[in-house]
Amino acid sequence: RIAYVNGRYVRHAEAAVHIEDRGYQFADGVYEVCEVRRGRLIDETLHVDRLERSLRELRIAMPMSRAALGAVLRETVRRNVVRDGMVYLQVTRGVAPRNHLFPAADTAPGIVVTAKSVSPASGDKRAEGGIAVISVPDNRWERVDIKTVGLLPNVMAKQAAKEAGAYEAWFIDKDGNVTEGSSTNAWIVTADGTLVTRPANGGILRGITRTVILDLAAKHGLKVEERAFSLDEAKRAREAFITAATTLVMPVVKIDDAAIGNGAPGSIATDLRARFHDHAETAPRW
Ligand code: PMP
Repeated sequence: RIAYVNGRYVRHAEAAVHIEDRGYQFADGVYEVCEVRRGRLIDETLHVDRLERSLRELRIAMPMSRAALGAVLRETVRRNVVRDGMVYLQVTRGVAPRNHLFPAADTAPGIVVTAKSVSPASGDKRAEGGIAVISVPDNRWERVDIKTVGLLPNVMAKQAAKEAGAYEAWFIDKDGNVTEGSSTNAWIVTADGTLVTRPANGGILRGITRTVILDLAAKHGLKVEERAFSLDEAKRAREAFITAATTLVMPVVKIDDAAIGNGAPGSIATDLRARFHDHAETAPRW
């Protein structure tokens, strides 16, 4: 495997950044994960838009132009011979002697890009059975709209899910509402077939898959409400599912001890997963 690190393509096993990289010391950096399908980057423009926004919010410079970044992403995919899988991109505030204050203005941002193959069949198989989620208190900071590499609460939540025999953890805010999953956005379907997902104006990351599914759902005449929903409402919902570039649309069949619907993947979630596959297959070539 090959990684791109600060201007060079190097062997993945030997790829390294300096111990004073601020990503390592302060989690002072942001990232993106983009799905690769048939060698193409899915929704690349939306991912780079979000990267630019995350960087702007943290006052970190774009490490290179959008065009140059696109070329690095594609070259990393090509060098790793990835047909289906994902590309990971991380930008930090760079290397400088440890100090909370921003480093000198001429400090170059640190950039790392990796790519790996993931069999599309593995997700499809998981989607056939659906997944279980657990609920955990949302103990994250308020700026979860920024895609930072500071993911410790997410790491603890996902591990707790695994140890409880579940695949994902849903964060619950102080009002008892679901914010999002540890690495996914959360959705439910009400008794009358309305899709419900929390608005992206606080408490969640604006997922790219979420944005695309909102668009696909509207195009196919589904009713959609962007509003907060409680854990209690979710447990009584007709269907539930999660979305992310890594899981696409993944049906949820159990929340804590409550079976969702009849305990099998719902028809709307299953249909939306198929529609997302169509979207990815027909995405414009780079
Ligand atoms: N929320 C969180 C906290 C995430 O980490 C992710 C995945 N990056 C998502 C939502 C889903 O975002 P996307 O659809 O862009 O992968």
